Amino acid sequence: MDNEEFRDWSRRAADWGVDYRASLRDRPVRPAIAPGEIFRSIEASPPETAEPMEKIFADFEERIVPGMTHWQHPRFFAYFPANAAPVSVVAEYLVSAMAAQCMLWQTSPAATELEMRIVDWMRQALGLPEGFSGVIQDSASSATLAAVLTMRERALDWQGNRQGLAGQAKLRVYSSDQVHTSIDRAIWVSGIGEENLVRIPVSGRFRAMDTAALEAAIVADREAGLLPAGIIACVGGTSTGGTDDIAAAAAVAKRHGLYLHVDAAWAGSAMICPEYRHFWAGVEGADSIVFNPHKWLGAQFDCSIQFVRQPEDLVRTLAIKPDYLKTRGHDGIINYSEWSVPLGRRFRALKLWFLLRAHGLEGLRKMIRNHVAWSEGLAERLAKEADFELVTEPMLSLFSFRHRAAPGADADEHNLRLVDAINTDGRIYLTQTRVDGRVAIRFQAGQFESTAADVDMAFDVVTEIARHLA
Ligand SMILES: *Cc1c(COP(=O)(O)O)cnc(C)c1O
Repeated sequence: MDNEEFRDWSRRAADWGVDYRASLRDRPVRPAIAPGEIFRSIEASPPETAEPMEKIFADFEERIVPGMTHWQHPRFFAYFPANAAPVSVVAEYLVSAMAAQCMLWQTSPAATELEMRIVDWMRQALGLPEGFSGVIQDSASSATLAAVLTMRERALDWQGNRQGLAGQAKLRVYSSDQVHTSIDRAIWVSGIGEENLVRIPVSGRFRAMDTAALEAAIVADREAGLLPAGIIACVGGTSTGGTDDIAAAAAVAKRHGLYLHVDAAWAGSAMICPEYRHFWAGVEGADSIVFNPHKWLGAQFDCSIQFVRQPEDLVRTLAIKPDYLKTRGHDGIINYSEWSVPLGRRFRALKLWFLLRAHGLEGLRKMIRNHVAWSEGLAERLAKEADFELVTEPMLSLFSFRHRAAPGADADEHNLRLVDAINTDGRIYLTQTRVDGRVAIRFQAGQFESTAADVDMAFDVVTEIARHLA
């Protein structure tokens, strides 16, 4: 591709992106295709000779796009959002054109220094105290892995990387059962082992860890000769928004010298609004906090910020050249690859810089406040319908509900059929979960371009399809 073609196709790609976004309301959120259809439509072997861009681009439009689930659709109410505000897409065009590796300061000085600044902008935006620094990881899963490795190394007096885990005391990590599966995987990958992830019982509307039980478990483990290493608390769990009492967890961590990691991957974005910060009161006592600007806030995937109180601990765990420890802070150089598991790193700070400047915190707060209000409004409307029940009250913009099955019919079966019918209809997209063993349907409002009318349509679609099924 020569420069003139590059220019032409870049323009066409940008035009396509704009038309695509503008057309989303007219598309089904989830495609009506069967597994294997797209796979079979793609040639089984690579081409030996060059093909014209016209044909490649046409195939993209004809074969790929109809098989996509549209995550930027204004009526995507499933999972959590993965918002890509248009301005962050523009930043990503630029990043992809430069395609720089941002592993060391000298491999991308501006990317490193902008990242330092933007992480601190976000620290201020979330109301975190000075003293937290941080890094942009690719995902919350990576950030949580980095935190678990740090708590492991700290508990083992920095000998785990060197000696391995054989022959060490058994490490123990504590969390509720409301945390994301990325915590399980971090526990597996770090060699701590699922059996040493101690699940603390939860109670109350927000399914918070019982901190007396947490403390008792730590004491009992110590007495049994095990090695408590850390606590993982969540704010806005994936299933129904389960939220721990962070101040209480931090107090336990402090009393027992344990590392506290807080997973606020989704809910963290809402903390730009001071009125929601009570959900993570006490967070300044955490050692590590992760939140994903690539979820609710609008920074194109991937973009996950890990705040840490003691970057030295993270670097000591992950830097392959501990020599850098000696110079860090003296010459002001940060080599961010020493703060994360992968070596190569994309330039992720640019899209946040663009996003924060183009919308301002006030613009983003307004969006989040709208989502919370619309979601609360929908929960209230559904709760008033005789054949619906709320299963969990709104936590920010997430709640869950159930439709009452006909007498004698299986309620779980009925609600699974309902989600399926709703998603096949295509006007909205929802996902299910289980609450106390029973199926519930999740709803979250969080799309960058959603309006109140889109949420109203969710009410119409859910009630219409439920009654048709029943
Ligand atoms: C989405 C989510 C994760 C995983 O995030 P990735 O960035 O996809 O790894 C972890 N924890 C919570 C609470 C989440 O909502």
